[in-house]
Amino acid sequence: MNRIGLLTSGGDSPGMNACIRAVVRKAIYHDIEVNGIYNGYAGLIKGNIKKLELGTVGDIIHRGGTILQTARCPEFQTEEGRKKALRHLQEHKIEGLIVIGGDGTFKGAHKLAEDGFPTIALPATIDNDIPLTDYSIGFDTALNTVIEAIDKIRDTATSLERIFVIEVMGKDAGNLALWSGLAGGAESILIPEESYDLHQIVEKIKRGYNRGKKHSIIVVAEGIASAVAVAKQIQAESNLETKVTILGHIQRGGSPTAFDRVLASRFGAKAVELLVNGNYNKAVGLYNNQIVERSISEVLSAGREINRSMYQLAQQLSI
Ligand code: ATP
Repeated sequence: MNRIGLLTSGGDSPGMNACIRAVVRKAIYHDIEVNGIYNGYAGLIKGNIKKLELGTVGDIIHRGGTILQTARCPEFQTEEGRKKALRHLQEHKIEGLIVIGGDGTFKGAHKLAEDGFPTIALPATIDNDIPLTDYSIGFDTALNTVIEAIDKIRDTATSLERIFVIEVMGKDAGNLALWSGLAGGAESILIPEESYDLHQIVEKIKRGYNRGKKHSIIVVAEGIASAVAVAKQIQAESNLETKVTILGHIQRGGSPTAFDRVLASRFGAKAVELLVNGNYNKAVGLYNNQIVERSISEVLSAGREINRSMYQLAQQLSI
């Protein structure tokens, strides 16, 4: 293999740059040229492709976002769109492609693999909702961003004796809410994978206040309910002042944690190795702290599951 392509797609996540750097440097180490495709699959359809040099990826390991930019591209879901993409890959003599992104990005990679193009998919999403990998790039950083915010909110919640409802990202997946709720000592965690009973949540808050608790923190994943609606209901039922914080896009940004940088570097290097060894159409993941590969189709057909024992633990620790 002499030339490979690289793109980031879907929602950006901290650590994508560290992964880009690892792919470029590992490839150059193997005498392989890397062409960067800008704006995800949209850039592939348009032919927005430029050679990446060692220097292009200098001084980016610590930066959030992605120097390759990212995009959501409905056209790539059409055969017509993918034909244009394949034509550009051929024109640029690209022999293999590495894509970095979430489950939508994986679906696009699977389509390319089905079309016969050697493709490797690397999980990068703050949702940590890709099956068959313990972690995706960006989750740890987003989690730490949420925790920092929860800790600050806790200070003011304690001082003013208030309830805070904090909305975190997660449309279909509650991992960020679950992990941050557990790490932040939340009284209740609302996630899309589990139903909740508001009456029980209010009862728990009241029990806490009756034994002198000065604050309550409720973490809500955006996909299960709006924090504003939850807060209104809690205030109406409990008669206690309830405030809302919606963390929003700060959760996507920021310098990646050491964990995410290391994970991204290991994933990126593994992707190049797989292409070098002719081991195509694979998704890379972390399992028992080992970097492993599975077929992209296996990952896409595996069920996504929340860690139920962790959810139960969070409930037990917040009685
Ligand atoms: P995140 O979960 O962090 O938002 P993602 O990769 O899941 O990231 P999506 O917008 O869902 O983000 O997907 C990224 C892109 O992948 C889409 O814009 C589209 O170009 C492509 N894609 C998604 N689903 C398919 C599909 N079924 N077939 C082909 N391409 C797809």
